[in-house]
Amino acid sequence: GTEISLPTLVSWVTLFRDRIAAEQGRLTELDSAIGDADHGANMARGTAAAAAKLDETPPATVDALGKTVGMALVSTVGGASGPLYGTFFLRFGTQAAGAAALDGAALAAALRAGAEGVVARGKASAGDKTMLDAMLPAVEAFEADPSDPAAAASAAAGAARAGSDATEPLVARKGRASYLGERSAGHLDPGSVSTALLFEALAEALA
Ligand code: ADP
Ligand code: MG
Ligand code: MG
Repeated sequence: GTEISLPTLVSWVTLFRDRIAAEQGRLTELDSAIGDADHGANMARGTAAAAAKLDETPPATVDALGKTVGMALVSTVGGASGPLYGTFFLRFGTQAAGAAALDGAALAAALRAGAEGVVARGKASAGDKTMLDAMLPAVEAFEADPSDPAAAASAAAGAARAGSDATEPLVARKGRASYLGERSAGHLDPGSVSTALLFEALAEALA
């Protein structure tokens, strides 16, 4: 099948950074409604650091890319989202250890491993109004037909956005927003919106 090269995966991360930078104000606004108003700044800082590290030390394997991005996110984001996205990229890389390129099936497996890492780390489930409400449907959509990675990523991006939109009426059961109880309903989950940007960036990188 179609090979996804390391430079394509690097461009995924830089496009994610660009989308986060463009939507930073919106992410902050969402987090000010049900959190502590730092999700935009957290993600802007983390993704800028990750992209800078990739530029400084170009990875030779998918594993190295995952480690560089994951460590940058964990060490620069002082919020829940840093360790969670950090774990996503670390597990993404470990799943593809040693590979210098991925085919669609290997990319699907790496995305699944990343999402499972977020589940293991944050102990949230579908419907808890977290980033997983975008990530789990996105990975499932990608897995449906990974033989055409560009089409799979486009389907994943659509599923991530729909999953994020569907967080609006939910009551948060994990993270800071859960402190609000019923008052968390009526707002999008900020982390689900940043995850929609992650999969939109992937679709753009693979297009
Ligand atoms: P903090 O809440 O520490 O300020 P951020 O504002 O950067 O961190 O990130 C908040 C986002 O993290 C939430 O919108 C939610 O999507 C996600 N999140 C929080 N806790 C969890 C969890 N246990 N599992 C998955 N995602 C979570
Ligand atoms: Mg916050
Ligand atoms: Mg915070």
